Amino acid sequence: MVPPVHRYDLISCHDCGVLHRRRPVRPREKARCVRCRSVLYRGIHSDASRMAAITLGAVFTFLIAQFFPIVELEVGGYNSSATLLGAIRVLWMEQMQLVAAVVFLFTILLPAVELGALLYVTLSLRSGQRPPGFDHLLRAVGMARRWGMTEVLMIGILITIVKMTSLAQVVVQPGLFAFGALTLMLAIVVSFDPKMLWNIGEHLPGPRRPAQQVIRDENAPLLACHSCGLVEAARHRHCARCGARLHRRHPDSVGRTWAFLLAATILYIPANLLPVMYTHSLFGKEDDTIISGVVYFWTSGSPALAAIIFIASIVVPVLKLAALALLAWTAQRRSRWQPMQRTALYRIVEFVGRWSMLDIFVITLTVALVRFQSLAVITAGPGAMAFCAVVVLTMIAAMQFDPRLIWDPVESNGEKHV
Ligand SMILES: [Zn+2]
Ligand SMILES: [Zn+2]
Repeated sequence: MVPPVHRYDLISCHDCGVLHRRRPVRPREKARCVRCRSVLYRGIHSDASRMAAITLGAVFTFLIAQFFPIVELEVGGYNSSATLLGAIRVLWMEQMQLVAAVVFLFTILLPAVELGALLYVTLSLRSGQRPPGFDHLLRAVGMARRWGMTEVLMIGILITIVKMTSLAQVVVQPGLFAFGALTLMLAIVVSFDPKMLWNIGEHLPGPRRPAQQVIRDENAPLLACHSCGLVEAARHRHCARCGARLHRRHPDSVGRTWAFLLAATILYIPANLLPVMYTHSLFGKEDDTIISGVVYFWTSGSPALAAIIFIASIVVPVLKLAALALLAWTAQRRSRWQPMQRTALYRIVEFVGRWSMLDIFVITLTVALVRFQSLAVITAGPGAMAFCAVVVLTMIAAMQFDPRLIWDPVESNGEKHV
C-alpha cells in the first residue's frame, strides 16, 4: 500500500509528465525533473507581503513608462517625441491596424493584466483572504505572462535610439528610464509562480468553486491541470481547483502545430520580400526590407546591432520553423530518438519565440519618431504586417505542441507519469 499523498504535494513535469512529490527547496534552488531535467519549480520567498510590495512598485513604474515620452528627436529646428501609446496610434492611422493591435496587446494590455491581477491577488493573500475571482485572475496571470514582451520592447527602444543618432539629435526622456526599471522589476515579478500562489490560496478562507462539480474517484486516472498544476484522480472534465478544461495531452496537438506552422511558413516569404518601411525624404523615396535594415547597420558601422537584428529577425524565425517541424514530425511518428535533446530544443523554441518581435517594435517607434514633414517621413510597409503574423503564428504553433508527446513512446524507469 502506498501511503496516501496529499494531492497538493504532487507535481507533474510540464515537459514529460513524470509525477513528483513536492519537497521544500531553498530560495534560488531549483527542483528538476528526474527524467528530462526540466525545472519543476524554484525555491523563492513565498511571502505575499513582499510580492505585493514589488508588484505595487512595478505598477507605478508601468504607469510612468506609459504616460511619459520615451525619446525626443531634434533635427533642423523641428522636434518630435513619442510615447508608446502615441507610436501605436500612428501605426493604426497608417492602415497597420493588425501590427498596432499586436503591439498594444503585447506591450501594454497584457503586462497591465498581469500586474493588475497579481497586485489584487497578492494584496488579498497578504490579508489572509482568498479574493473573489481568485482562480480566474491567476489563470489570467499565467496567460498574460506568456505573451507580455516588456523586455523585448526595452531592447527595441535601445536599438531605435542607436539608429536615430545617425539621423538626428536624440534626447532621452523619462519614459526610457521607466521602461528600464520596469524590465528589471518584471524579471522579479515573473519569479512569482501562479502555481505557488494557488497553493497558498488553497489553505485560506474565501469563496471557492461549487463543490458539486468535483467528483473525486480514487480509481480514475491521474490528470495534471495545464493551468494550475493540480494533480488529481478525477473523472470530471474540468479542474476542481481552477476550472480549466482537463485533458491528458493537448487535444490534436500535432495537427494544430502543423496547421499554424504551415501558415507561418507561407507568410514568411512576403515578410522577407515586401518592404517593412518606406522612407520619404528630400532625397526621394526608399524601401526597406528586413534584410536591407541589417545591411544598413552593417555598412553604417554598427556590426553588433546588425548581428542582433539578423539573428532575431532572420535566423531565429527560420530555426524556429525548422525545429517545430522536426518536433511535430518525430512526435507524429512516435519516434524514440533523443528525447532529452528534443525536449531541450522545445524549451529553446519556447524561450526565444518572443524575441522575433524585436524588429516590429523598432519599426513601431521609428515610424512614430521620424515625422518631419518636409525633411523626412518614415511609414510602415506591408512586410511588417506579414512579419508580425509570422511571429505570432509560430508562437501559437509552439504553444499547441505538447512536449510530453516526445516522451510518451519512451519507456520510463519505473517513474509514474500522467
Ligand atoms: Zn520531465
Ligand atoms: Zn487547474
